[in-house]
Amino acid sequence: MNSVFSHRRTLIQLLNRHLSATGTLALILTCLASIPLPALVAHDQTRPNILFIMSDDHACNAISAYGGRLAKVAPTPNIDRIGRGGIRLDQCFVTNSICTPSRAVILSGQHSHINTVRTLNNAFPGPDSDTPNVADILRRSGYETALIGKWHLRSAPWGFDYWKVGPGQGQYHDPFFVASTDGVPYSSRPARKAKRTAGYYTDLITDFAVDWLDNRDEEKPFFLMLHHKAPHGKWEPADRHKKYLADVKIPEPATLWEDFSHRSEATRNMGTSITNRLSPRRTMVNDVQKKDWPAGSVDMSGMSELEKGKAAYQKYLHDYLGCVKAVDENVGRILDYLDKSGLTENTLVVYTADQGMFLGEHDYFDKRWIYEECLRMPFFARLPGKIAAGSVNSGQLCSNLDFAQTFLDFADASDTPEIAKMQGQSLRTILQNETPDAWRDAVYYRYWMHLSHHHIPGHYGIRDGRYKLAFFYGLPLDAALGKGTYPPTTPGWELYDLKIDPSETQNVYTNPDYAAVIGRLKTRLLELKKQYGDNDAQYPDLLKVRQTHWNE
Ligand code: CA
Repeated sequence: MNSVFSHRRTLIQLLNRHLSATGTLALILTCLASIPLPALVAHDQTRPNILFIMSDDHACNAISAYGGRLAKVAPTPNIDRIGRGGIRLDQCFVTNSICTPSRAVILSGQHSHINTVRTLNNAFPGPDSDTPNVADILRRSGYETALIGKWHLRSAPWGFDYWKVGPGQGQYHDPFFVASTDGVPYSSRPARKAKRTAGYYTDLITDFAVDWLDNRDEEKPFFLMLHHKAPHGKWEPADRHKKYLADVKIPEPATLWEDFSHRSEATRNMGTSITNRLSPRRTMVNDVQKKDWPAGSVDMSGMSELEKGKAAYQKYLHDYLGCVKAVDENVGRILDYLDKSGLTENTLVVYTADQGMFLGEHDYFDKRWIYEECLRMPFFARLPGKIAAGSVNSGQLCSNLDFAQTFLDFADASDTPEIAKMQGQSLRTILQNETPDAWRDAVYYRYWMHLSHHHIPGHYGIRDGRYKLAFFYGLPLDAALGKGTYPPTTPGWELYDLKIDPSETQNVYTNPDYAAVIGRLKTRLLELKKQYGDNDAQYPDLLKVRQTHWNE
């Protein structure tokens, strides 16, 4: 079908143009009368439905389609099914590797410093702001929109015809939900005695999604954001998965016992450790021994320090993968629903996570860093007939910055003026295996929450197809969370050559062979900061650190 006539609005625009050319009322009436209504509906149905499934903290390493050490141990056949029927992106990166900010980037198509959600404490700007919201744009363009599951953006959800969310982090078992139809103001911190819904979060939101799909307005395409709480900590598998992998020893990553002497002083003693080799770092070893650890504590009495580290890693991965198991099952349920309802053929299904996650790599169990395991996001997209089944893109650098423009492109809704405020690029050509006219050569990353959680310094950097250069400036600036103290930390640079060192175990910043590469990347980093409007000039403390350390 000619794409010019792909939906009703375009047709009306054409009629309007014809009207101004002729000025003939009779012609309009003739045209309108000649267009049968069912044909218009059929045209509108060529705009695909969009089902956006996002989990929380789901690492590529815990999805079997990506291979990796856990692929055979803990397969995810249903998530893999989306990739088999569509495309998998191998180079999709988050701009700020933390929950709340990533969600704001996905909705707005803007970097954190533009959409103002730089930390966990910032609320997504409301409908009166000039921040774009892809859900609201789609709603205004004729989509029926809904959000079900985790929101985690502090302000009330907007842009959705219907929403039902678990405020804040939510609870795994018998969670609390609030819906747009409840008639009560949204609160990100519900009262302690709020009514709970019996069941397991991951199962419940899938039930809610199916209910909403069953009762939607079938005259409109839908945009459904289905946001899982899992597998975010603290990890509580469903009762049916408490024994999942119980007798299996989970393989350790080679970097669990990494020697950090290659690191800059800026990061050597930082971060969230599993094995507690470094005293300033918080440890999983301590956490999982606590009696209130949700999925049962670990008795480490009599263990050596090495044995404690190994036991903590096993506990973490068993709990985490148990939570992933329910996500995968429920992805299967929603895909089955699409099949049975005849919706598969015209529904763009996306599966992703709000960022990656460390599963013991570098001895970490959190995210936030620019390092690969949490910088990389899983991403699968399926739309039969439009996206070739079984495709993989490993070449182009993609980003959560691109998601909003991608949805608008598939929905034929890119003619909104708000798109000019967005900073990404539509992924449509990449998903459809076409060569885009021009594509980015590097992604820009920035983590603002200096020391506020998990003892990680403020930093920014650049990753291109081969190298990653990071500047750990180590200052809270104006992004501290308001409690505790966040003293400056030692600044430093790190460079990784991902072609020969994909696991980032050799910081080569001080290797003279890379001097030219470093010079080029620093120039490109400043260009990207300028392009995206992330200007350090408003932070004299940061400029001072830059002046001292930029050329060291
Ligand atoms: Ca997250």
